Amino acid sequence: MDLALIPGVTIRINESDNVVIVIKPEGLKKQEPWSGNKMALEHVPMGHKLACLNIEQGDPIIRYGVTIGFAKVSIKAGAWVSNSKISMPEPPSLKNLPQPGTELYTAEPLTGYNFEGYRNKNGSVGTRNVLGIATSVHCVAGLAGHLATLVKKELLQKYPNVDDVVPINHTYGCGVAIESPLAQIPVRTLRNIIDNPNFGNQVMILGLGCEKLRPEQLIGEVNSNQSQILYMQDTDNRGFSEIFEAGLKMAEEHLSRLNHRKRETCPASKLVVGMQCGGSDGLSGITGNPVAGFASDLIVRAGGSVLFSEVTEVRDAAHVLAPRMTDKDVLDRFVGELKWYDDYLASGGADRSANTTPGNQKGGLSNVVEKALGSVVKSGTSPIVDVISPGEKVKKQGLSFVATPASDFICGTLQVAAGMNTHVFVTGRGTPYGLAMLPVVKVSTNSVLSKRWHDLIDIDAGEVALGLKTVEQKGWELFKYILDVASGKKQVACDRLKLHNDLVLFNPGPVT
Ligand code: CA
Repeated sequence: MDLALIPGVTIRINESDNVVIVIKPEGLKKQEPWSGNKMALEHVPMGHKLACLNIEQGDPIIRYGVTIGFAKVSIKAGAWVSNSKISMPEPPSLKNLPQPGTELYTAEPLTGYNFEGYRNKNGSVGTRNVLGIATSVHCVAGLAGHLATLVKKELLQKYPNVDDVVPINHTYGCGVAIESPLAQIPVRTLRNIIDNPNFGNQVMILGLGCEKLRPEQLIGEVNSNQSQILYMQDTDNRGFSEIFEAGLKMAEEHLSRLNHRKRETCPASKLVVGMQCGGSDGLSGITGNPVAGFASDLIVRAGGSVLFSEVTEVRDAAHVLAPRMTDKDVLDRFVGELKWYDDYLASGGADRSANTTPGNQKGGLSNVVEKALGSVVKSGTSPIVDVISPGEKVKKQGLSFVATPASDFICGTLQVAAGMNTHVFVTGRGTPYGLAMLPVVKVSTNSVLSKRWHDLIDIDAGEVALGLKTVEQKGWELFKYILDVASGKKQVACDRLKLHNDLVLFNPGPVT
């Protein structure tokens, strides 16, 4: 049914939807027209849903052409479909998902796009040249922090090809049940972070000496140089000053090796881009995530790798993603990861409804079903070629699902471990999220945020809602911006402002 919506006021995503989304920055006022001479019955904020048809109690609420919930009360056309009026449906059953391989869309390969990166011996390419100072236990976090500060202040200028020094701190290592099968997740995460392409296989590791997690366990196949571990309890060093001196000496050896790395022209196929969203709102699924999804398809067409994640924001879209999986093996592993997470949440007395934050709801997202359907859009339309368990490295070029929690920092940390060299982060409510070891491109879903946070946001996808740009135009802009920041030609907002978050390990295992 044609609703003759007034442009710039509301948007209807699918023609079977019985709600439209308010895109007007100041919201829709009571008695303001949204379609022909039909008036809003009450004020509806930006990003929120307005009933475009009469909805009876118990009827499905349809957005994206999908049921996102059921009406708890009757809702008249023109009324605000607020969160309190919607009950949440059951998640799709994992037992009878659609067949894999039935919606494999492949587009023309994209050639001729390059970036200036740092090649590693194992074939990976860094977007930065960073000395990582890793730790096997939190006891030595202070030493790592002091070392990084002093090396940056006094040594870094002697090694002009090295971009930065970053301590890799975490709270794991001491008092953990290291034999638990679940300990594999934080341990392999740390090992694979150390192998991230931006560290150029030159990470040094600080240990205490008595911790459960042995620093040797963190040395992956590409980091086989044994001289990179310094134990604070080593009896050769007397007092903190000698320990610190030993750390500085080790750092300088690593810096001199890293200094041999130079940027060279690499094909876009060497990009490993992690997609994430946080502080999402009702426009995330209309502007920011479709733009990220379009860029994701361009990267895949150029032969690159894209990671999308956030299990609780994928769970309710499992039936949408299943046909895009290349084969039954990929689908089985996908189902295995979702099932594991269902059980993990249940063991803590929670379920997927724990996702959606007060900010999400204020931004118009009623529940995790609506959030998930908007969230998975950032995976674009490419085939899903692989599923990666938390803490594992990405293995294939193309689009992979990396099973992570949706928590921004835990997801980002697991994507760093997967081998991400550039990050795209979509936000509607606004977050200063940034990581020190790689560029994080922040995309806002609405222009209200990008104007207020003019120096914190890199790309304004809100222009799509305002009709100023198309998803395709903004998608290309994001793709080219990714190439520029990967080349070191442009600096992202969070780097300019030095806003960097800590890495946060996912540890579902027991602590003693
Ligand atoms: Ca997130």
